[in-house]
Amino acid sequence: MTDAVLGDLEPSAVRVRFPPSPTGLLTVGNIRSALFNWAFARHFGGKLVLRIEDTDTARNTAEGYRYTYDALRWLGLTWDEGPEVGGDFGPYLQSERMDIYADVVAKLMAAGRAYHCYCSQEELDQRREAARTAGQHSGYDGHCRNLSPEQVQAYVDEGRRPVVRLRMPDHPIVFDDLVRGEITFLPENLGDYVLVRANGYPLYPLVNPVDDALMEITHVLRGEDLLPSTPRQIALYEALADIGVGSGRTPRFGHLPFVMGEGNKRLSKRDKGSGLTEYVDRGFLPEGLLNYLALLGWSIAEDRDVFTMAEMVEAFDIRKVNSNAARFDPKKCEAINAAHMRLLPQEEFAQRMIPFLAATGVLPEQPSEEQLAVLRAAVPLVQERMNTLSESDEMLGFLFVDEDAFRVDPDAAAKVLTGDAHAVLDAAAKALADLGDTEWTTEAIEAALRASLIDGLGLKPKNAFGPVRVAISGRRISPPLFESLELLGREKSLHRLERARRTT
Ligand code: GLU
Ligand code: ZN
Repeated sequence: MTDAVLGDLEPSAVRVRFPPSPTGLLTVGNIRSALFNWAFARHFGGKLVLRIEDTDTARNTAEGYRYTYDALRWLGLTWDEGPEVGGDFGPYLQSERMDIYADVVAKLMAAGRAYHCYCSQEELDQRREAARTAGQHSGYDGHCRNLSPEQVQAYVDEGRRPVVRLRMPDHPIVFDDLVRGEITFLPENLGDYVLVRANGYPLYPLVNPVDDALMEITHVLRGEDLLPSTPRQIALYEALADIGVGSGRTPRFGHLPFVMGEGNKRLSKRDKGSGLTEYVDRGFLPEGLLNYLALLGWSIAEDRDVFTMAEMVEAFDIRKVNSNAARFDPKKCEAINAAHMRLLPQEEFAQRMIPFLAATGVLPEQPSEEQLAVLRAAVPLVQERMNTLSESDEMLGFLFVDEDAFRVDPDAAAKVLTGDAHAVLDAAAKALADLGDTEWTTEAIEAALRASLIDGLGLKPKNAFGPVRVAISGRRISPPLFESLELLGREKSLHRLERARRTT
């Protein structure tokens, strides 16, 4: 297996790349590509190159670059060469490689592997239309492949500015895709394509393969949407090898399956759930999100969904990636995240909650020892109940919020603090007030409330404890009640019961 993937390559010689554009947006599709490249590189002990495809400078913003680096770091997808890291094959921003592309194009032209095309858009359109009517293939017809010096001069005299086209081979292009097996492209479907615009602007079909060649990339793992560009990329690779640019070896390609969203349509960057920021804000764990994204095309074992990144690296095999489109399932994504929430050591869980409790203002960014002690004691009460970290505040905010800022959710009050609730709160407050500071334990609190509300008032547990829960936590759903009362402390608990009693 491994041999088929590596050929005669040493495992540590593996070089893969992740080449995003710095648009300030990473989608789950992008991240899955980054993840599979990262796992592939780590599995073999090779290198992951981060290259920023920013030739389209109009679309790039300073924040876009920052966002890309921060997002990959947040995910833990570290790169071995690239921006902020360096490496022997830089620069790693394409915008800083313009001279390199100009030089390569000059060499391709000199060797006859690329040529100037002077056709105007109208001429191209007309001939394409005519070809279509005649039932012929409608790609570029090769009109300018072999212009005489006089014809060229005539075009130049007319003031025409040429594009540069690659001279495509006239034989089929066949390659063994690591995911999809053998794929053949026929020459009639592969017209000579444009590498450089008339204004000198180098295009993706030029710069992406040129950089892959110069950066000695050995494997290209990317989304299936890029499959149509692969035969052109291979043709350019072969031309570059012939003129001595780059490593001279064509990389192996593996095209990762489409990711489908709602209604079985390809997930687009406009769809909800497609952008990384949403997951960061919702308090996903990077390892939970990555685990789910790994399942979009790959699995570690038939009956197993949850695994660590270390386990993925160990087991990852690009040959086992499924070529069928994968369905993005937001519910499953959250469930996988929840499983990773449960796997965290308690102290780690507490630490990861802090930024989310700080974001709503109930905890400072550096909590006091006292606050940390409460947080640590609360973790076992909530760790099994939370799916994402953004639930931290609704789960535990009531333990830390300032008494002045504490509010009962109006909806909870309307539903629970009505009818008999006043009498219930009255009895609860009396029973709890009898407990001294040193008796304020979960067991004693439970015994006192049961004696007073269940045995004394003859209430059902739901009717007895519901009002108490809303009064002290402000919500209908909270961590277990008696433990919550213990953690909240005697003074605050009695104060909140009293407040609720007055308004009920
Ligand atoms: N910059 C391209 C993209 O983000 C790179 C595609 C590739 O992997 O070749 O779509
Ligand atoms: Zn032409």
